[in-house]
Amino acid sequence: MNEVETPKMSCKELVDVITEYLEDTLPTEDRGRFERHLAGCDGCQAYLDQMRETIRALGHLPPESLSAEAERTLLEAFRGWR
Ligand SMILES: [Zn+2]
Repeated sequence: MNEVETPKMSCKELVDVITEYLEDTLPTEDRGRFERHLAGCDGCQAYLDQMRETIRALGHLPPESLSAEAERTLLEAFRGWR
């Protein structure tokens, strides 16, 4: 395990940068934090899968206007998990 002295990424932050991650424009350091968070968070894994499905369906990344709604969907999904 490589321990890097960076703060843990929150779910909120992951959602904020997910399009950059998918576009491969996320800086290496943030990418590492993103992937570490993802490894331990079922909700964000599901969210990433959902984003990939959306991209496949649309053929491109969804417009920014979808972000707020996607975020709410994610938070609602978390509420359903125990
Ligand atoms: Zn998360």
